[in-house]
Amino acid sequence: MRPPSCTLVAMDCLFCKIAAGTIPSKAVHSDEHSYAFADINPQAPVHFLVVPREHIPSIAHASSEHADVLGHLLLKAAEIARTQGLENGYRLVVNSGRDAGQTVDHLHVHVLGGRHLSWPPG
Ligand code: 5GP
Ligand code: ZN
Repeated sequence: MRPPSCTLVAMDCLFCKIAAGTIPSKAVHSDEHSYAFADINPQAPVHFLVVPREHIPSIAHASSEHADVLGHLLLKAAEIARTQGLENGYRLVVNSGRDAGQTVDHLHVHVLGGRHLSWPPG
């Protein structure tokens, strides 16, 4: 059964609205299950977000029924990295919850690249 916090769309969710096109964004990819767009406040020369069309608040809310869409998001993130010229490497980031700095409660994969990324993160 679908967890109660995961719905097809949430009317008050920023990324649901961006994926639906009711709030504008710079798209880099769109398909039935996912949408990818430029981050409004880029932290690297290349910074995109890949989101599921389904409203999943965070990776902590995902369950086994989301396995396909989660795999899809990672494969799309890698495909976008390739098409955006990140052949020297890139980082995928999924922040979950307040301690990790998640600010938008709709699961998203950050694709960051175009500069050296230090480790460990802050
Ligand atoms: P988080 O901190 O939740 O992992 O990442 C949320 C990301 O969403 C941030 O990098 C932030 O810059 C981005 N963001 C927030 N609001 C908007 C918006 O209205 N449009 C776009 N394109 N990105 C946004
Ligand atoms: Zn949403």
